[in-house]
Amino acid sequence: MSGAPEQGTRLLIVGPPGAGKGTQAKLIATSFGIPAISTGDIFRDNIKNGTELGQKVQSIVSSGGYVPDSLTNEIVRDRLHQDDAVGGFLLDGYPRTTDQVTELDRILAETGASVDAVILLVADTDEVVERLLKRAVDQGREDDTEDVIRHRQGVYLEQTEPVIALYRERGLVAEVDGLGTVDEVAGRVATALAQRGFQPAGVDAV
Ligand code: ADP
Repeated sequence: MSGAPEQGTRLLIVGPPGAGKGTQAKLIATSFGIPAISTGDIFRDNIKNGTELGQKVQSIVSSGGYVPDSLTNEIVRDRLHQDDAVGGFLLDGYPRTTDQVTELDRILAETGASVDAVILLVADTDEVVERLLKRAVDQGREDDTEDVIRHRQGVYLEQTEPVIALYRERGLVAEVDGLGTVDEVAGRVATALAQRGFQPAGVDAV
């Protein structure tokens, strides 16, 4: 191994539950040709399929708490080592604790890589609670009851704000207003990334 950094774009998307991370993550990942990796989706798939991991995390996820870092880190490490993620990725929902930041740094440093940019979707708490209550009706997500939603907002503020502070210190955070239509927000994300020099292949420089 040469030790040279791997080519590719390594992005994170963070924001409170209900800010629309999953939707934007898929759009960004498609335009950059990188996989969108959501730890929430990985946990939910495992719960649905009744795997050993799913059984372990079921009660934690449905109550809105955080899965222990040791388990979450191992899952992300495995996923980032898969072939499709070697050339870049967009992580949605990870890292959410400062220990997860340390672990992600460690995983990426093994190949001389690092996080390139962090998209922070900003949304007002009342607005996101309302959106999640609507999603509960539309999709029937088990962790979308009002109590659990409010709990998840609290956990986010307590655990994930320090994560954002760490990436701010590194100058990596691109803040984007998460209110508006999916297309409006997607446009803002694309602009914020382009301003930082990240553009999907085939798009002219701004
Ligand atoms: P939301 O953004 O709506 O909170 P996610 O789909 O990202 O939802 O996550 C759903 C749940 O999965 C979380 O409430 C938590 O229980 C678990 N989870 C997801 N990512 C992590 C993580 N990085 N660390 C710990 N738990 C996680």
